[in-house]
Amino acid sequence: MIQIRDLTLKELEDTIIQMGEQKFRAKQIYKWINLGVENFEEMTDLPKKLREKLKEVFLIKNMEIVNKQESSDGTVKYLLKLLDGNLIEAVLMRYSYGNSVCISTQAGCSMGCIFCASTIGGKLRNLTAGEMLGEVLTIIKDQNIKLSNIVLMGTGEPLDNFDNVIKFLQIVNSKEGLNIGMRHITISTCGLVPEIKRLADLKLQITLAISLHAPNDEVRKKIMPIAYRYSFEDLLEACRYYIEKTNRRITFEYALIKGINDSIEHAEELAKKLKGLLCHVNIIPVNPVSERNFERPEKSKIEIFKNILDKNGINVTIRRELGTEIDAACGQLRRRYIT
Ligand code: SAH
Repeated sequence: MIQIRDLTLKELEDTIIQMGEQKFRAKQIYKWINLGVENFEEMTDLPKKLREKLKEVFLIKNMEIVNKQESSDGTVKYLLKLLDGNLIEAVLMRYSYGNSVCISTQAGCSMGCIFCASTIGGKLRNLTAGEMLGEVLTIIKDQNIKLSNIVLMGTGEPLDNFDNVIKFLQIVNSKEGLNIGMRHITISTCGLVPEIKRLADLKLQITLAISLHAPNDEVRKKIMPIAYRYSFEDLLEACRYYIEKTNRRITFEYALIKGINDSIEHAEELAKKLKGLLCHVNIIPVNPVSERNFERPEKSKIEIFKNILDKNGINVTIRRELGTEIDAACGQLRRRYIT
């Protein structure tokens, strides 16, 4: 059986033609897929015989909602079960500019960042493009909302699942599908240098967010194993390449962890390293994870860190927090279920 949500419109057209059907049927079907229908019977403008045939060839539903937590700010965190039993998380966030869904790209993660709950059990597998689409569709349908943004910032390292992620972008960007503009999509990476360059060469207009979290190799190595594979300078070099190719401003995420990366010297060093780069720094007070032992700095220290960047001409904001009361952050709901 073919998972129909994995197909681009072009692939669906080819398959439909191979099945001896007319090409225009593919567009009709594609429209239904992207409305989130989970049953071919709901595709009411197709002949009954075709619907029967589709049922024999394709699967459509690829996950179910296991748990849902709603926060008073409107954030909703979903725990979803894939067909093979793997559990993943996706989150709906409501902003003044529209609804945004944060999706997972892998079941688990192998990157090993010490502050992150998603990586604790390692990577189980990559998600397919259709499963990523499934996360988005499940939430749109469950909430009956219009979606304006997608962020690939849930569990998993998107650039460690490169081809499926790019295919997913093509599907959600499709005019016949959800039609989400590339500028409304953000990919967050811990910094896989060759893949950042590969992405740059595609010249997509997405926003690239780099989880930097440190001003140098020494600090970065303490919290992010990936820093042993790619140096800070190599990473910045890849960012420069990305900016040159795409003309897009890069977002650097910086999770402030008390006593690790939050000193005045760290802020000054970071400012120096980022000077002149087309970028924006997003400071995130670290979310405590029960399996890990670290804290966020006091509010005043967070402000000081921000002000130093500000004074040095670096574009900086402190991330507004949504959904903290519901474990919305970083793989924590999933962990509660699999341990
Ligand atoms: N693997 C990708 C995307 C998933 S993580 C990446 O590393 O960017 C999404 C973001 O959440 C990253 O910036 C990550 O560093 C951050 N993050 C993970 N655990 C966190 C925690 N406990 N507190 C704050 N941010 C965290």
